[in-house]
Amino acid sequence: MSEIDTPLEQESAVYKTLLESTKAIPWRIHWDSLSFSYIGPQIEALLGWEPASWVSVQDWADRIHPEDREWAVNFCVAQSKAGVDHEADYRALCKDGSYVWIRDVVHVVRHEDGSVDALVGFMFDISERKRTEQRLIELQRELEALSFKDGLTGIANRRRFDAVFEEDWVDARRSGKPLSLLVLDIDYFKQYNDHYGHVQGDYCLKMVAKVLEKAVRRSHDFLARFGGEEFVLVLPETDAASARQVAERCQELLLQEWIPHERSMTGKALTVSIGVGTVVPMHGDERQSFLELVDRRLYQAKLRGRNRIADSD
Ligand code: GH3
Ligand code: MG
Ligand code: MG
Repeated sequence: MSEIDTPLEQESAVYKTLLESTKAIPWRIHWDSLSFSYIGPQIEALLGWEPASWVSVQDWADRIHPEDREWAVNFCVAQSKAGVDHEADYRALCKDGSYVWIRDVVHVVRHEDGSVDALVGFMFDISERKRTEQRLIELQRELEALSFKDGLTGIANRRRFDAVFEEDWVDARRSGKPLSLLVLDIDYFKQYNDHYGHVQGDYCLKMVAKVLEKAVRRSHDFLARFGGEEFVLVLPETDAASARQVAERCQELLLQEWIPHERSMTGKALTVSIGVGTVVPMHGDERQSFLELVDRRLYQAKLRGRNRIADSD
């Protein structure tokens, strides 16, 4: 520092050194001219732009990711006009064409009469935080998917069924449209395991799940593994006749697949028994009772000889 520096100049020099030694990028916008009266030289290290190229507010706006630009500019302008301190997260364009997540923290400096004099702020590099956030969101999604998925067959599990069935039940009660439910159970599966072994038994369950997936045609129809060698189909807006057709289609597709089952008493290929029910839920009806009704029908189908559909009591 030269000897002619005044104490004020010396103080500003200290502040400048402090400001420019932080990782955050300090800046100042003169409000009337909407131009930068200062931008920290760190901008070049972070984004690649020379401080001299950071002149007008437009330069700033042009270097915001197109998807973030409109809201970020509108938000910052509105807050500034209202004289409110604020912060905004957006992706800033680097000179090399890549983007960096920035948090811009803005303080509004006012004249004595309350009108806006300038904006001062700091830009923080928050890309690391954003990456962590993104990874957490992905992990959360994976976890959710895993917890709703049956580990063996890859279709929805019992937990997911409970949620979907509840939702469809409420929808049906509201719309007054019929809701159908199919519960399918593989015939003589114990004998299948005994004869072919558990590993083949597992493989067989996967094949059955694939076949049933083909039987599900409408986007709102839902298939899940209910547990063991039982599967369930929830068919919203489906009347009894259509539900029976779906049940028949399941049997036909399974027969086409022809999974050999030497020990079955229904023939030489794997078969299923199916309980079917249709309901327009009324207020006070319990979906658990409906599920039990369909389960009783499945039991009837078993009693009547297996490889059949029971859709009435
Ligand atoms: P039914 O015709 O009356 O349905 O007779 P079933 O032999 O199929 O009898 P049940 O439903 O009682 O037996 C189901 C069998 O399914 C028993 C169990 O060992 C087998 N099982 C359940 N889950 C699995 C699994 O994940 N893998 C394999 N391999 N077998 C399973
Ligand atoms: Mg069973
Ligand atoms: Mg069985």
